[in-house]
Amino acid sequence: MVNNRTNKDIDVLIVGAGIAGASLAANLAKTGKNIVVVERDLSERDVIIGELLQPGGVQKLEEMGFSSFINDIDAQPVYGYDIIYEERDYVIPYPNKNGEPCGYGFRNGAFLQNIRKHILAQPNIRVIEGTVTELIEANEAITGVRYKLKGATDEESLYAHLTIVTDGPLSIFREKLSKPVKQVNGFFLGLLMKDCEMPFANHGHLVMGDHPPMVIYPVTSTSWRVLIDFKGEKPPRLGKDIRQSLLEKFENAIPQSARPAFVAAVEKGKFKTFPNHRLPASPVNKAGAVLLGDALNMRHPLTGGGMTAAFNDVLRLSNNLEKVKDFSNKRQLTKAIKNFYEKRHLGTQTTNILADGLYGVVYNADLRNAFFEYVSRGDKYAEETCSILAGLNKDKKLLLNHFIGMARYGTQLKISSEKKSVVVTESITMVKDAVGIITPLLLSEKPDPGNKLMLEALNRIV
Ligand SMILES: Cc1cc2nc3c(=O)[nH]c(=O)nc-3n(C[C@H](O)[C@H](O)[C@H](O)COP(=O)(O)OP(=O)(O)OC[C@H]3O[C@@H](n4cnc5c(N)ncnc54)[C@H](O)[C@@H]3O)c2cc1C
Repeated sequence: MVNNRTNKDIDVLIVGAGIAGASLAANLAKTGKNIVVVERDLSERDVIIGELLQPGGVQKLEEMGFSSFINDIDAQPVYGYDIIYEERDYVIPYPNKNGEPCGYGFRNGAFLQNIRKHILAQPNIRVIEGTVTELIEANEAITGVRYKLKGATDEESLYAHLTIVTDGPLSIFREKLSKPVKQVNGFFLGLLMKDCEMPFANHGHLVMGDHPPMVIYPVTSTSWRVLIDFKGEKPPRLGKDIRQSLLEKFENAIPQSARPAFVAAVEKGKFKTFPNHRLPASPVNKAGAVLLGDALNMRHPLTGGGMTAAFNDVLRLSNNLEKVKDFSNKRQLTKAIKNFYEKRHLGTQTTNILADGLYGVVYNADLRNAFFEYVSRGDKYAEETCSILAGLNKDKKLLLNHFIGMARYGTQLKISSEKKSVVVTESITMVKDAVGIITPLLLSEKPDPGNKLMLEALNRIV
């Protein structure tokens, strides 16, 4: 039971102790603010989401002083990606010339429990296990929440100077705090391969070909997560035919050394599926509230960028809020939040554009081939692309240059390998397709100086 006396003193109320909410509580607690977190289920979750943290996300954890969240969970260092394309492959290491961190693969539930353990131990954070049912609004501002304690039937209220909503990908509150245009691109079906070897230990593997894409990465010292894409708005049917269909479509695409483990995982049949969304951020400024994490912004998980985007946001928002000494000062609080919404894209836009851009590429036979040939050139073609994937390099212009450069390179290869007159139209289509994929992604991010020039340049290409 929460009484009115404690209630009055709450600076920050966080809805959801997932990746964004729990890490934000941990970071904000350093300012001494009085924080309450309401999470509907504090037990360790068993999910297929958020199991590869890119180096850029690890870097943000380090900046917040939270590297230890990765300890003692059998997390596996990840040093780069192996791109497997039909019968060939090419390995791209993450950048590490300047002491950049590596990435990590882990079970998301175990990682999250480490963050939750930390917040449960903070004297100025109170964690309540309960479900938030409503955001309380008065005079055009959010003033708190209604919630039900776990197992209780009656609702209670909590009031705070600031309510931060991080209720995840299936958020029920985002409509109140943004103008969302959410799209389901497809579903990932996840399974775990046990006790096997992949071509490169401690690497992510992107498997592309004449089949839907798969991503595979280590999540413990003895298991690899396999995520298989099912395009479309409906989840894959997990009926009696699914095992046969998975083996027919994907067994031969899995590297030889891991095939027995893949077959065993399929036969075991413990499949989990989850929708893959695209949700450009479109927050509305509402006094007393902030929307964060997947509730605010989502991109395709093909590149494993969600947690990195969330940690970028957590750090930026905390830095802004840190400057507000007294949260009852509404004007200062509103200014800090507005500034966060204005600038957050600088930390997340390349992660978003690359994720959805690459998803478009892997489903286009010509561009898929062009992408593999382009990164196989090594040098900056592989390194710079990988630094953006890693979440370490946030240069949007560089991303666009590589994206269009890849399509141009594919075009050149096609012209030189076939009869010119036959392929010219298709080759032009390849560049046009690339522009067609990247333009709406660019447009859905908040514009910054240079955006107009980039869009004009893209228009000139086609
Ligand atoms: C299939 C898939 C694979 C992915 N793989 C990766 C990956 O490898 N790497 C990566 O970086 N990202 C990945 N992501 C994205 C990543 O998982 C998310 O970006 C990240 O988890 C978002 O964190 P969040 O805090 O917003 O949401 P969550 O971590 O989902 O947390 C939301 C929390 O809110 C709680 N909650 C919800 N409603 C209420 C309520 N009414 N009251 C109280 N509590 C509530 C939930 O119980 C939960 O704890 C993947 C996504 C998908 C779909």
